[in-house]
Amino acid sequence: MMLIPCPWCGPRSQLEFTYGGDATLRRPAADAPEAAWAEYVYLRENPCGPHDELWYHGAGCRSWFSVRRDTRTHEILASSPVAAPLDARVDQPVADPPALRDGQQAP
Ligand SMILES: [Zn+2]
Repeated sequence: MMLIPCPWCGPRSQLEFTYGGDATLRRPAADAPEAAWAEYVYLRENPCGPHDELWYHGAGCRSWFSVRRDTRTHEILASSPVAAPLDARVDQPVADPPALRDGQQAP
């Protein structure tokens, strides 16, 4: 069982979270070539080592946040709100979760 440190709730069981994908992807411009869109939608790296990911705490604060996880060991190296840099390990809650709005979507 993996413990994931939510920036607002602290370490919780992985069962409370949903993986949201690669946090390093950047959406192409609306007028970008079709190849850029195909790469954005379909192609993914399969890193061996630290990887930045998006996670959703659906059974907790219902917030999205970033996690740096070592894909070899599943060790969580850092956790932070999406808008904050992923440069420090978070073992304790850092703040109140952001207010939820109806229809709020992933970042
Ligand atoms: Zn949470």
